Amino acid sequence: MTGLKWKIGQVEISQITEIDAGDVIQGAIKEATPENIKAIKWLYPHFADEHGKLKSLVQSFLIKSNGKNILIDTCNGNDKIRSDLPQWGKLHTDFLKKLNAISADAKDIDIVICTHFHCDHVGWNTKLENGIWKPTFMNAKYIFPREEYDYWKQMPEKELEDDKHAFNDSVAPIIKSGLAEFVDPDHKIDNRVKLIPTPGHTPDHVSIMIESDGQNAMISGDFLHHPCQIASPNWSMPYDSLPDKALDTRRKILSQIADANILLIGSHFPNPVAGHVRRSKEGFVFEI
Ligand SMILES: [Zn+2]
Repeated sequence: MTGLKWKIGQVEISQITEIDAGDVIQGAIKEATPENIKAIKWLYPHFADEHGKLKSLVQSFLIKSNGKNILIDTCNGNDKIRSDLPQWGKLHTDFLKKLNAISADAKDIDIVICTHFHCDHVGWNTKLENGIWKPTFMNAKYIFPREEYDYWKQMPEKELEDDKHAFNDSVAPIIKSGLAEFVDPDHKIDNRVKLIPTPGHTPDHVSIMIESDGQNAMISGDFLHHPCQIASPNWSMPYDSLPDKALDTRRKILSQIADANILLIGSHFPNPVAGHVRRSKEGFVFEI
């Protein structure tokens, strides 16, 4: 029942998986055809199957740092109504039991951070109680990138309906309950965990950097969705709010983490989820 775990110096990071995301991610990256995927040999056996189909997950990560439980992203959640991606709606998963299995009840979460406001990253912010969306993590401070909130509250016409619904059912109730804290995209949580700006997929998208005892890791959020985009950073997705910026960020961050020996924990990557971006003759590869 328990997922993977990583130790970064004094910080512990645990995986909590919600559902498989293979079809959605593959459908969204239009260059990710079976033929193109089969040509990237290092994707095998972990990141693609023999038919050239991508493997991926919707998942959260629990960071334990300085005695605090910090939950990064909250997947789709249960009972949400979704129309663009119906397979991500009306779910009844055991996400909270999985959290409980790594010794963290919902009431024990101190901080929730949403890397961005897409429906698969904010869902468990709330749960349905007597027909009303209530904060799932009632004792937590919910950290939201300020301009991410400013963008989505306008209900931008060009964005998916599901993400606007997610704002209403999974973000607005947190604001109403007084548990939200708006921050800059380089906000420091403590001396070991901080946000870094990775804009493009959404306007104020952030990733999470962890540094302790000389070791470093990064939880990606969605500046990339699958290891195939390490091989081909120019493969983008139609859900990027700012496509040129997203491409620029992906190239820049991949270069930075390749040069700095940072463990990359991919928010939609399938197991083993984490590895190092290295430079090769062809560009970048992902080593696990
Ligand atoms: Zn996502």
